[in-house]
Amino acid sequence: MKAFEKNIRKVEPYVPGEQPQNKVIKLNTNENPYPPAPGVKEALLHMDTDRMRLYPDPAAGTLVHSLAEYYGVGDDQVFVGVGSDDVLAMCFLTFFHSDKPILFPDITYSFYKVWAELYRIPYECPALDDKLRIVQEDYYKENGGVIFPNPNAPTSIYEELDFIEDILEHNRDVIVIVDEAYIDFAGKSAIELIDRYENLVVVQTFSKARSMAGMRIGYAISNPLLIKYLNDVKYSFNSYTMNQTSLVCGVEAVKDRDYFEEQVKKIVDTREWAKEELRALGFTFPDSKSNFLFVTHPQIAAKKLFEALKSANIYVRFLGGSRIQNYLRITVGTREEMEALFSFLREYVKSKGE
Ligand SMILES: *Cc1c(COP(=O)(O)O)cnc(C)c1O
Repeated sequence: MKAFEKNIRKVEPYVPGEQPQNKVIKLNTNENPYPPAPGVKEALLHMDTDRMRLYPDPAAGTLVHSLAEYYGVGDDQVFVGVGSDDVLAMCFLTFFHSDKPILFPDITYSFYKVWAELYRIPYECPALDDKLRIVQEDYYKENGGVIFPNPNAPTSIYEELDFIEDILEHNRDVIVIVDEAYIDFAGKSAIELIDRYENLVVVQTFSKARSMAGMRIGYAISNPLLIKYLNDVKYSFNSYTMNQTSLVCGVEAVKDRDYFEEQVKKIVDTREWAKEELRALGFTFPDSKSNFLFVTHPQIAAKKLFEALKSANIYVRFLGGSRIQNYLRITVGTREEMEALFSFLREYVKSKGE
């Protein structure tokens, strides 16, 4: 090792799902199979390219305002960033600054551990129970902050708001972040709790239900004080996080509530049908309230199936890890994509049974 290497910050990076550049059935990174709202395309066609000479609005005012209106909160209660990954990274840096460990589940979004390591934040990971549920009592102990997704990823399980409130009640003195990347496929958002719990931060994204993973837009909703602390850190890091094109497209997407709700409903319907198909093939899975299914099969090795699917140009996600070694995470695609998946699975399951 060279002498200078000892001063280099070494991290074990997050490993994103594959983004194959050829045409495949892509059910591996929980993207939306439908295009964004038609207004987004329209806005892009009329983009003022001369505007690109200038820096974008550092406060992302137009997008912040449209999100504030959508959720019925003040403009000073919304923070936007380059995907929720950026928003979450800023949240870790801003809110998790204690000597005590922050808490998040052992099986959850694997980026949390990466940020904790990157920022040298101590952490503990209480284990999910054997049904892959978060055990709320594990979050009653002293800690430096709490974060979990609802629905949780990759388990797909949604917890009702009384569960969230219970964790908030037991954690009045630290910041609690609820990562709601999949909330639109699930149920009530914790946004309605922000007035009652001044330590709550809710994070959402345009990447899943809003069909705009490629645009990189995420946001946090909280009270004005916590949003100010977030902005102070953001301006100390990079003032111009949101590019002009994303700002324009983001505003257009938020405008079209009907289109958004229609696409979400299609995905939820496909998901419920897919559950029946999977059950008929002998797969088991938690009752998903997100746009993906976390499946396992008593007679089939997940990793082998993952590879067989990949050879057939059907991409799903194998995450590995000790307790979920035999699980695959399958994004809910279009009805046609899922039909193709099931015709492969029917053959595969049959050949394993013989
Ligand atoms: C997809 C996802 C994110 C990140 O999404 P962005 O594309 O960065 O907005 C954050 N948290 C969870 C749990 C996710 O599944």
